[in-house]
Amino acid sequence: LGQPLFADIDGDLKVSFEFFPPKTEKMEETLWNSVKALEPLGPRFVSVTYGAGGSTRERTHQTVERIQRETSLNAAAHLTCVEASKDEIDQVAEAYWASGVRHIVALRGDMPEAGAKFEAHPQGYANAAELVAGLKKLHPFEISVAAYPECHPDSENVKADLDNLKRKLDAGASRAITQFFFSPEAFFKFRDAAADAGIDAEIVPGILPISNVAQTRKFAGICGADIPSWMDRLFEGLDDHPGARQLVAATIAAEMCRKLYAGGVRNLHFYTLNRAELSFAICHLLGMRAKESVAEKAA
Ligand code: FAD
Repeated sequence: LGQPLFADIDGDLKVSFEFFPPKTEKMEETLWNSVKALEPLGPRFVSVTYGAGGSTRERTHQTVERIQRETSLNAAAHLTCVEASKDEIDQVAEAYWASGVRHIVALRGDMPEAGAKFEAHPQGYANAAELVAGLKKLHPFEISVAAYPECHPDSENVKADLDNLKRKLDAGASRAITQFFFSPEAFFKFRDAAADAGIDAEIVPGILPISNVAQTRKFAGICGADIPSWMDRLFEGLDDHPGARQLVAATIAAEMCRKLYAGGVRNLHFYTLNRAELSFAICHLLGMRAKESVAEKAA
């Protein structure tokens, strides 16, 4: 009530999509099909994650370069500073700059052992804010950083987490992309608190359309995102109904995006998990339409 229906959404939303680097040829094919399926929606950028501890350094690089080279999309490379010296990180960043990649999602990362307390590499960047400053010294990269509507687990409190976000933006980042969440209210509260803390940069909600609650709950536990219990109820009895699970997943995520839109949000970042269908369907519900097929960059 009092909120626009899908039909009232104006087509003024902008989106970005996140992928992870594929491990096998089959996964590569899936990723590539997804990139091609989402490209006509004209995202602002697409980003490719960096595996824990830099484990996908080469694969992230290859994927970002291929997107940059073979599509009309702007590719952003995630880069973490865990377990690497400043020199090593600077080399990775230089290679991106040399291949025309201008956008980095700069992150601290987590230790490879699940749940282990973060320890900076002795010659490394101590946190994401230092990484942002280091990257900016190298080249005028466009930089996005992470934000946590439900607070990062390492943070003492919300204020400390916002101070940290502000340090990253003051160091030269131009936008924050949030960890996924399932409560629009949590996002709005965070956005208001950020504004009160003097943060005026764009804060882009990270949207994770989920069709497997149990799996997501495992992951959410590590990163501090709350999965409300009503979500279990919505997926109850659907274990053997993958098609219905997909439809329910799209409905939940689209409904959340609609509420975010009603609250003034105009930019969304989708965690695609390398599958196009859910993100594509949600974007469609939100009024986005595929642009005429985009010519290959090289053409
Ligand atoms: P930071 O901003 O450095 O902060 C981490 C925590 O430490 C915060 O709680 C902060 O308050 C605290 N902190 C930092 N500096 C200080 C200080 N000086 N004093 C006191 N407290 C401090 N991980 C990957 O491995 N690869 C990826 O590709 C990846 N992509 C991501 C994309 C998005 C959009 C998001 C939201 C997360 C992503 N992550 C990724 C996960 C991320 O690496 C972890 O959440 C990590 O634990 C924190 O990274 P950060 O960049 O937020 O760290």
